[in-house]
Amino acid sequence: MMPIKVVIVGAGIVGSSIARVLSMYEDFDVTLVEKEPDVGWGSSKANTAIIHPGHEEEPDVHPLRARLCREGNILWRQWTRELSIPVKWPGELMVFFNEEEEKNAKKYIELAKLNKIPGVRVVYRNELLQMDPSINPSALGAIYAPTAGTISSFEAVIAIVENAVENGVKLLTEAEVRGVKVVDKKVKGVETTKGFIEADIVINAAGLYSDKISHMAGIDSGFVVRPRRGEYFLFDENVRVKPEKLLHTTPTPITKGVYAITTIHGNLMIGPTAEDLPMDAKDETSTSEKGLEYVWKESERLLKELPPRTKIIRTFAGLRPEPPGGHWRIEAYDDPWGFVNAAGIRSPGFTAAPAIAYYVLNLIKDKYGVSLVKKKHWNPYRSDIVRVKDKSLQEIDELIRKNPDYGEIICYCKTVSKAEVIEAIERMKKAGVKTITIDGIKFRTRAGLGMCQGSFCRWRIALLISQYTGVPLYQVVVKKDLYGVGEVKALLKS
Ligand SMILES: Cc1cc2nc3c(=O)[nH]c(=O)nc-3n(C[C@H](O)[C@H](O)[C@H](O)COP(=O)(O)OP(=O)(O)OC[C@H]3O[C@@H](n4cnc5c(N)ncnc54)[C@H](O)[C@@H]3O)c2cc1C
Repeated sequence: MMPIKVVIVGAGIVGSSIARVLSMYEDFDVTLVEKEPDVGWGSSKANTAIIHPGHEEEPDVHPLRARLCREGNILWRQWTRELSIPVKWPGELMVFFNEEEEKNAKKYIELAKLNKIPGVRVVYRNELLQMDPSINPSALGAIYAPTAGTISSFEAVIAIVENAVENGVKLLTEAEVRGVKVVDKKVKGVETTKGFIEADIVINAAGLYSDKISHMAGIDSGFVVRPRRGEYFLFDENVRVKPEKLLHTTPTPITKGVYAITTIHGNLMIGPTAEDLPMDAKDETSTSEKGLEYVWKESERLLKELPPRTKIIRTFAGLRPEPPGGHWRIEAYDDPWGFVNAAGIRSPGFTAAPAIAYYVLNLIKDKYGVSLVKKKHWNPYRSDIVRVKDKSLQEIDELIRKNPDYGEIICYCKTVSKAEVIEAIERMKKAGVKTITIDGIKFRTRAGLGMCQGSFCRWRIALLISQYTGVPLYQVVVKKDLYGVGEVKALLKS
């Protein structure tokens, strides 16, 4: 049997999850095409990283979102175990402060029943403050959803891609899709900046740019994906305020509210805003004074206290790929035959991604009559980088005896050793990442994510990249088009 050639456009959480699921079958020969130098640098990198329970989706309005959010929440429990992805499941509290908010919040109890989300209930002030003492004591109560979790979003994409490649998927980075070739109403392949790639099936998972890819295939020229910006503050690990649950204010028609959470890496994070930007602002990830002030004010309302602003280690923004009416466009087409959209996947897209992947698999099976023969030796597992920070002193001692590079610390904020940086470089090469970037090392090792934001470690990492790839030091990049060590916090302050 000749495998069906599949090109997936976009290595965000949706494209990489689809690649992993297709890699389970003999039927497909999959190429995952990404325009950036690395995977997961679109919406999947900068978001709140909540695995939503599914009680905020209206099944009458968004039935697919409601169903795939619930299924995704369940699947992530298995995927995070198989792929060693950092995750925790503290549950979430939607906090209300007055009767109007209480009335709005209680609507989600009904939605939880409709969506069959377990354990969702109202808690009032006494119980609420016992559940999480960091909440502002003026709160009246909250809707508690115990199945909410939080994940390391960039590490999730990296882990899924590593596993997909291990199971036969080819990753092609720095290849921007510029055209979809259709002959006699059938998909034939994609034109990329790295050349033509033949394909029987093209799956569009290009996030903010999924409208463009859809138009390239001649699908619905009226379909547009609008950037909706969300801004955040991230605080140092070393602050007193550390919410135990995932806290947020009551939702509005366009957002799930402002969150205050302790991230999977132990930092207090507050945000986001929800601001519709012009259509041509799909790379506009700067923050704004107005947006950040809004986040600060909402968080002051939500929390008993906020840390001093000197404890902020960074502000950042992410862009939601917002489709018309908030409707995800997941469809396999007859015309052109072989074109599949997984387009406009706005929130809760991260949560739903594994379920979206199975949904797309079934669409392909039904529409194009694929038999789906499981691979005998498909490997569901992927192990994480060996991290000094997670080890006991005795274990570190053993590691150093075998490899002295574990004893050389490159990032003191996050305790990352030289051996970890080298392992990350080797993993990137193995996955098919062509340009080893400083950001790529940061997202794999966490070096540069701490208080000093890379002031100490960036040039050390640049040296190691140069040494282990043969790229001259002056050509090492932080991220696309940013050479050298870039701006670092110490330099910005001076
Ligand atoms: C502020 C904010 C908060 C959010 N919070 C949550 C949350 O808490 N929980 C949750 O479940 N969801 C959340 N989301 C939504 C979630 O992040 C998205 O639904 C999800 O990341 C979308 O994934 P994606 O793979 O479709 O898009 P992306 O991650 O953007 O991936 C698309 C990829 O396609 C690539 N690409 C684009 N054009 C081309 C081309 N022409 N050729 C090749 N490659 C191309 C891009 O570079 C990118 O890597 C949030 C989003 C934002 C922005």
